[in-house]
Amino acid sequence: LISIQQVSKTFAEQSVLNQISLDIQKGEVIAILGKSGCGKSTLLNLVGGFEQPTTGQIFLDNQVVTKASKRCIMLMQNYGLLPWRSVQKNVELALEGTTLTKLECQQRAQQYLKLVGLDSRLTALPSELSGGMQQRVAIARALAIQPEVILMDEPFAALDTFTRYYLQDELLAIQKEEQTTILLVTHDIDEAIYLADRIFIMSPNPGRIHRELQIRSTKPRDRSHSEFQHFRE
Ligand code: ATP
Ligand code: MG
Repeated sequence: LISIQQVSKTFAEQSVLNQISLDIQKGEVIAILGKSGCGKSTLLNLVGGFEQPTTGQIFLDNQVVTKASKRCIMLMQNYGLLPWRSVQKNVELALEGTTLTKLECQQRAQQYLKLVGLDSRLTALPSELSGGMQQRVAIARALAIQPEVILMDEPFAALDTFTRYYLQDELLAIQKEEQTTILLVTHDIDEAIYLADRIFIMSPNPGRIHRELQIRSTKPRDRSHSEFQHFRE
């Protein structure tokens, strides 16, 4: 589905990514690990079409990625919420331009905000929420669009353990159901092992794919939702 072909990226003389090649099949979950500054976010920005490679090309379904599209949604490291819009509006606005009616947008927004446990905070502004709550709004917004590809930049970093486990399981369930393709940047190796089909470790200066880890074990944690349910608001 996604083909990254010999992609390099240079910012003002600084070589940030060097000759990255990676093919990702539909329905795969790929985790990318690596030290801070090794170019993980930059790689996601390129795949999402927010920036262009200096050399090399990225294909989505055999078409060169030249701009951002609703097929491939980015869940940003800094959440990227609109500060002057309510929680619900932040999700609804992301659904504009789809085939959904206004009412369907409202319902879809509420459905996904409920999923992340924020159905009681629909009218709040992002600034009135904790960091973890803002992150959950961003997760709801990305999932509500039901994109083919989700690029996730440390999506659960600000969350408490219970919420993180719960949302990891919800994400996997949605991913299996919809055959969503996920490219996930994380610093959490357990998260990578739990969620990913393949793990890539990047090394810095310039960012390269250092090695691929094959995951041999089955999913390590067996956690039913109900155990964690009562920790949600
Ligand atoms: P972290 O784990 O801390 O999020 P990262 O692996 O995501 O790090 P990037 O944000 O991709 O790292 O940054 C990689 C390098 O590219 C850094 O040295 C950074 O300064 C540089 N860089 C990223 N974006 C830009 C930009 N728009 N202009 C100039 N330099 C940039
Ligand atoms: Mg980053």
